[in-house]
Amino acid sequence: MYNLTSRPRLLLRRLHKVMAGAGSAQSRLNKVVKEIARNMVAEVCSVYLARSGGELELFATEGLKPEAVHQTRLKFGEGLVGLIAFNALPLNLPEASTHPSFVYRPETGEEIYHSLLGVPLVRHGRVVGVLVVQNKVTRRYSDEEVEALQTISMVLAELVGTGDLLESANNGNGTAGAGQSLVLDGQKLADGIASGAAVFHEPKVEVTQLIADDAEQEISRLQEAFDTMRRELDRMMSVAEIATAGEHRDILETYKMFAYDRGWQRKIKDAIQSGLTAEAAVERVQQDMHTQMMRTSDPYLRERLSDFDDLAHRLIRILAGRTGTAAEEPLKADTIIIAKSLGPSELLDYDRTYLKGIALEEGSPTAHVTIIARAMGIPMIGRVRGILSSVEDGENVIVDCEGGHVFIRPTDDIVETYQDNIAIREARVAEYAAQRHLPAISRDGVPVQLLMNGGLLIDLPNLDATGAGGIGLFRTEFQFMVSSTLPRLDTQMALYREVMDAAGDKPVIFRTLDLGGDKSVPFLPHDREENPALGWRAIRVALDRPALLRYQIRALLMAATGRCLNIMFPMIADVSEVRDAKDVVAKEVRRLEKLKKPAPAKIRIGCMLEVPSLAWQMNSLLPEVDFISIGTNDLMQFFFASDRANPRLADRYDLLSPAALSLIQWVVKTCNEAGVPVTLCGEMGSRPLEAMALMGLGLKRLSISPSAIGPVRTMVRSLDVKAVTDFLLPLLNSPDHSLREKLRSFAKDHAVII
Ligand code: PEP
Ligand code: MG
Repeated sequence: MYNLTSRPRLLLRRLHKVMAGAGSAQSRLNKVVKEIARNMVAEVCSVYLARSGGELELFATEGLKPEAVHQTRLKFGEGLVGLIAFNALPLNLPEASTHPSFVYRPETGEEIYHSLLGVPLVRHGRVVGVLVVQNKVTRRYSDEEVEALQTISMVLAELVGTGDLLESANNGNGTAGAGQSLVLDGQKLADGIASGAAVFHEPKVEVTQLIADDAEQEISRLQEAFDTMRRELDRMMSVAEIATAGEHRDILETYKMFAYDRGWQRKIKDAIQSGLTAEAAVERVQQDMHTQMMRTSDPYLRERLSDFDDLAHRLIRILAGRTGTAAEEPLKADTIIIAKSLGPSELLDYDRTYLKGIALEEGSPTAHVTIIARAMGIPMIGRVRGILSSVEDGENVIVDCEGGHVFIRPTDDIVETYQDNIAIREARVAEYAAQRHLPAISRDGVPVQLLMNGGLLIDLPNLDATGAGGIGLFRTEFQFMVSSTLPRLDTQMALYREVMDAAGDKPVIFRTLDLGGDKSVPFLPHDREENPALGWRAIRVALDRPALLRYQIRALLMAATGRCLNIMFPMIADVSEVRDAKDVVAKEVRRLEKLKKPAPAKIRIGCMLEVPSLAWQMNSLLPEVDFISIGTNDLMQFFFASDRANPRLADRYDLLSPAALSLIQWVVKTCNEAGVPVTLCGEMGSRPLEAMALMGLGLKRLSISPSAIGPVRTMVRSLDVKAVTDFLLPLLNSPDHSLREKLRSFAKDHAVII
């Protein structure tokens, strides 16, 4: 056989010319197979294209019987052609008919050909067809020939995909491989449903220039790009960046492993030698390696597949000089951001107008970006395996966080169903917004104070939008978590002042830093802990490192000049901790007096009740504090000894159990009797049914997520508090695992809107 590799570029150019030339799509494809056969000195060259429904149809051939064109069809996995498509791998067979997958199709007349070399046509990671050459002699094709046919297949795949061949292929019979609707599963991170066009956070660069004349130049471009990429990885590995970039260290370690992999680089260079540009060569090798890694039995490598794809795309972006993120351009229409992972500050860079949802390959419920997406009210789904390689830029996507699904290229009926759902949700939100001025007073006249939880500037507009009575929990650690360095005194002060300005007359309760545990920051390093939730966190860190707390108190005092300042301490397990923390405040107040600086008009000090032990110290605690806030997120994980972040335990214990409700009732009762205001600020209060039960226990103040204010207000206005109290209190002694169903029946019978 003539060695094609000596003049591959010439053939590539010719193919390009033929495809761009005159004539119908079919006639041009006929010329293409003729050219390839001639150059490969093959008696047969055939192109099969994928139809929807998973069939591969013979579209053009040189050498097989012409009447087989558009007649011969094979399913993915059927016959040798189907096998190549199914595996997305080349097949090089000296004697094709002896392969177990060989199927004989008499209409083709292929029985006289012995050797076969076939390669998949892959476009954007999907097999869109198969290119085959055959010879009468029995021979194994050389590695160079395989490489050359792969290069041709890449060019051909582009031409098939972008030219009017695709239209001809569609021709009422479906699409060429792409376009099928797909559902991927994921994990809800921030609630909601959204639909829009997929936009890659790190845009995938469309490689349009495939052929290069000067291989040396392409290799030096490749070398430079590798150098740049390695430098970037080193920078990202620096501790400060990891905290803000949303990438985990082990992922970066994997990136580095690939970035220094000599085999990878060598394969790309070989592809460049066969006539491709550096970008096209990276893409081709990525497709090959992707397929091989998919098939490996090594679980570690399979796990790392998306890391490798991501790195290859990064390399292509560097080569193309397009390293920015999609946030740099204004979004133009309803958008679903698709990313491997996302950093908190990266999310904040997006224009909120058109950002409707986020789907991540990684992501976790406690990641900082998740907390911010929730605060922004943007539906976000994570752990969607394969999302990056399953969707194209601009394709229609529906993110259903409630159900834990991402619909890619959804069918019309799915779109309709979800549009109805989205419309119903939006109508509900608009209705709640319209009712934001209505007082949260129960049917029997009990006023309920509905406050909101927050932690960032982006939360502030929600005060007006929801009609919240104030901010019942301002998580000050968020500012630290989205910053790569320790926020300075004036930066802290500026934020607190802005929050109080936005709140005006409404109260704001600033919780001092609840750092440590799962909320780590790079500038506060501490040892790895076996049980971080039970570890050195929150007030424990603050009292052991009083300088940090003193600084924060100083910033709060300065920000609250002339106003009422509410300070709340987290994770108090022992009354002595409140006393010690109060001493720090007193010291800072004395410092202000000494310096003759203006002070807040009033200082109120409270604490979170998040540790069960504190519920047994109410008598000594209450005289020490001006208010209490029950943090059920932590309280209940300690009460039931059940990790709040472990999905396996999520439904194991119910907060509407007699035990949990009795504990809350005890705390509420003792606070009410002592005249100390008590609020509940855990997620529990955000759910209307739970909120109804809490009202029944005598609670009159909730601090909840902004999106819950409307639904909970509606519930309160439909509730008779005395009735639910009379119903619930006797049940607290029952042996039930949960009172949920009984409470639901109560709501139904008494027309409480939950
Ligand atoms: C809680 O524990 O209930 C709480 C409100 O605090 P966080 O969720 O910030 O731990
Ligand atoms: Mg907590």
